[in-house]
Amino acid sequence: MKIAVLPGDGIGPEVTRAALCVLDALSLPGLTLHEGDVGGAAYRRHGHPLPAETLEIARAADAVLFGAVGDPEFDTLPRALRPEQAILGLRRELGLFANLRPASGWPGLEELSPLRPELARGIDLLVVRELTGDVYFGAKGERAGPDGKRQGWDEMAYGEAEVRRIAHIAFRAAQARRGHVTSVDKANVLETSRIWRETAIDVARDYPEVALAHMYVDNAAMQLVRSPGQFDVIVTGNLFGDILSDQASACVGSIGLLPSASLGERRTAHGTFGLYEPIHGSAPDIAGQDKANPLAAILSLAMLLRHSLGRDDEAGRIERAVGRVLASGPRGADLGGSASTDELAQAVVQELAKAD
Ligand code: NAD
Repeated sequence: MKIAVLPGDGIGPEVTRAALCVLDALSLPGLTLHEGDVGGAAYRRHGHPLPAETLEIARAADAVLFGAVGDPEFDTLPRALRPEQAILGLRRELGLFANLRPASGWPGLEELSPLRPELARGIDLLVVRELTGDVYFGAKGERAGPDGKRQGWDEMAYGEAEVRRIAHIAFRAAQARRGHVTSVDKANVLETSRIWRETAIDVARDYPEVALAHMYVDNAAMQLVRSPGQFDVIVTGNLFGDILSDQASACVGSIGLLPSASLGERRTAHGTFGLYEPIHGSAPDIAGQDKANPLAAILSLAMLLRHSLGRDDEAGRIERAVGRVLASGPRGADLGGSASTDELAQAVVQELAKAD
């Protein structure tokens, strides 16, 4: 089993190091790590945010553990050379079409949520966002509008095959959860969404034990804050998913707690190839201060073990250990405490050692 480790910039290396401490504590046999430069760190050493060597390391691995990219020093570079292009390049080159973002309210942290505690407590959902299609990847350009003035345009399109493969991911995820999928679209006005909805209904026939519901995206945005507990798995396209997954994350509270997975089609010996990263960025404002919350990176490692390495037991052990640290262990500055990144990693390692 090979893991490509791409720590990146800012707090990326700090939280990745913390996740690797937890991985080390599991003492998994037959595991090798291969580290690569990415983002601003890669630009500094190789003149490109995603050097060919790094892409090779990622391609040769069963999974990628990614930190974060982004460095204000490089904000004035041409777009193609900016650190953030590395993550877009990795998604494209590795065919990572499915973005999974779980969001759940941790007991004891309800006060972090902008929602009322009783609503925050009930959050336990997974957003499955299509990542390589939709209006983001369609043709785009500028033309003269009917009034002769400049008009921007972007083509929105989804093919049945694209919808089918992301829908299968969502239904399979629901089978392992509470058996409910909400497909979010705008089928009342968009032809793209009509195809999306009809295809989702067709795929649902393969999963009779999973209930499928449909929701227009405007209603979904409202329901996420009014009654988030009603959702189990939400599946949606790239544009709607971009917005709703951030909204779902904000409902939980700290950005330092939320992991993500981006999966491709390639099968590994024990699962599916994927890239795993905390949803936060490189946080230049706190980089190098040992203040970053590493729990999102540690939970991303748990997702990696589950989806790419078939290590469901260890993934569950990490998640329960994180839960115990959040319930009664030290807290970092983002959660109103003063524990350092390393102290939080050690607290998870100590909890892992206890039988659960
Ligand atoms: P950010 O997520 O880096 O930070 C937002 C705020 O949250 C900051 O105040 C930061 O200190 C805090 N924060 C983030 N992660 C934290 C953690 N683990 N523990 C404690 N506090 C944490 O978002 P931003 O400030 O908008 O972006 C900073 C840089 O990161 C930019 O260059 C941006 O492009 C990049 N970025 C990268 C990714 C990625 O690598 N996938 C994602 C988002 C942003």
